Amino acid sequence: MNVVALAGGTGGAKLAAGLQEIVGAGLTVIANGADDVEALGVHVSPDPDLCTYWLCGEIDEERGWGIRGDGFTVFERLVELGAPEWFGLSDRDLATCLERRRRLDRGDRPTTIAADLARSLGARATVLPMCDEPVRTRVRTAAGWRGLQEFLVLEGADTAIEAVALDGIEEAAVGPEAAAALERADAIVIGPSNPVISIGPILAVAGMKAAIAASPAPVVAVSPFVAGAVVKGPTEPFMRAAGLEPSAAGIAATYGDVAGGLIVDAADPGPDPDVGDLAVCRLDTLMEGEAGRRRVAEATLDFAAVLAS
Ligand code: GDP
Repeated sequence: MNVVALAGGTGGAKLAAGLQEIVGAGLTVIANGADDVEALGVHVSPDPDLCTYWLCGEIDEERGWGIRGDGFTVFERLVELGAPEWFGLSDRDLATCLERRRRLDRGDRPTTIAADLARSLGARATVLPMCDEPVRTRVRTAAGWRGLQEFLVLEGADTAIEAVALDGIEEAAVGPEAAAALERADAIVIGPSNPVISIGPILAVAGMKAAIAASPAPVVAVSPFVAGAVVKGPTEPFMRAAGLEPSAAGIAATYGDVAGGLIVDAADPGPDPDVGDLAVCRLDTLMEGEAGRRRVAEATLDFAAVLAS
């Protein structure tokens, strides 16, 4: 079975790990690339790399990000030598980004690099960034425009968001690997990631929505709201800033034109979202441990099969 999952670095990445348990190499993850940042002389691609670490079992599950048990020896030395310290990278994470830098410098495409890095680290699924062109999320607060990572890391994401922009999105286009994966998919899953800064950039890439619409596969989105609240991260302020209600109803409104079905958490308050023909399925969507991820992934594929029938 061939499955495509759209993902950021946390909710969607966890679901991708569950999907990989079921379909193995049949899974292609299209990860958000608008979080990318240049730091410490390397090119950091947080969401594709977090997806890779989830898929190859290296993620620090307790923390929800980064590589389990990894040290910061190189970063600490770099700071001692005078390097900027606002963006820390652990040793193995830095190695991933160094290798990405080397490959970019010799002219390789970001898509090929991400897929190769994931394969080298043992992921069975294919990991693709959303496009090869550089796209960067910027956030405007009362202090002015900031890059997304500066906003998240330096401002702790707790300043009021006035506007969000995707620099470079006009030049971005869906690549041949992502287009081919969507074309041959039996199911397309929009992971429970931030709809504005994780899934939003992916769907904004020229040709992405058209490739999803052209695919015969059913499209199922999973709400990132568990019992009416996000598990972690700034999903609510970003949804408010984008004029979306921070709830499953807001998720339904966001994906109503792309998805055929929405999975809403069983404990979510309020009635089922009612948006056009969007079918709603309720289940416990909290993905705790490997069993939890697999359970939600299985239910997602079951729902997709119902939509396809
Ligand atoms: P980022 O790239 O690290 O910002 O993370 P994502 O955008 O991929 O994911 C953030 C979202 O994941 C948050 O809105 C969380 O509520 C959601 N999330 C995290 N774990 C779970 C889970 O187990 N179940 C569900 N339904 N959502 C989750």
